Amino acid sequence: MDEKQLLEKIREVARRLRERYPKAYRPGRTPVEQMVFTILSQNTTDKNAERCLENLKELTKGNLLKVPELPRDKVLGAIRPCGMFNQKLEALNSVLGDWERLEKELKKLSEKEAIKLLTSYPFVGSKTARVVLTFAFGKNTFPIDTHCFRVLKRLGIFPEGWSREKISEFMESHFDAEFNRRFHYDLIRLGREFCRARNPRCKECPLRDLCSYPAKNSPDRGS
Ligand code: SF4
Repeated sequence: MDEKQLLEKIREVARRLRERYPKAYRPGRTPVEQMVFTILSQNTTDKNAERCLENLKELTKGNLLKVPELPRDKVLGAIRPCGMFNQKLEALNSVLGDWERLEKELKKLSEKEAIKLLTSYPFVGSKTARVVLTFAFGKNTFPIDTHCFRVLKRLGIFPEGWSREKISEFMESHFDAEFNRRFHYDLIRLGREFCRARNPRCKECPLRDLCSYPAKNSPDRGS
């Protein structure tokens, strides 16, 4: 597939996803809430992360910047349901302790510089940085989580062997912020509804005719 065909396939997949999911996802969080939520959501479900975010809001009476000043055991208790809590606490303390300066910087920086700055904090990887930058700062980034990566791989859109970083950079240099934000989240929706890690529902999938996953035709790939 040459680059022109690759771009056409991405546009067609995005168009089908928009048909299936007509409403764009808007998290409706403040930038600091989005930052905290994204750290909490690493390796757990959004439901767990939401619960822990609410626990922290309650503990800080709505001012999440107070987290680094609170006793360690209280914060750990609040974020325990998310797992990896020691790591997450360290990430939260370092980012929130610096948040006022960091937020101003992130608004001014280019996408590449902002990713570099955010990933300089402990346990903040490039996927977390990209999620925060697109949903809290309106930047043009294309985060790739496990669902996105699985769906993209099965669809066979990108050449075999392209890393998440390479795909993100390709998307960021060929599509705008709105397209990438929407495409990222619609792939997650498809991953949850049809293209599940186990037992994908290929028979009912709206992208079936565009998909290269060899097992899509097997008789047990239904609901
Ligand atoms: S056809 Fe199956 S493997 Fe392909 S995207 Fe749909 S659910 Fe995933």
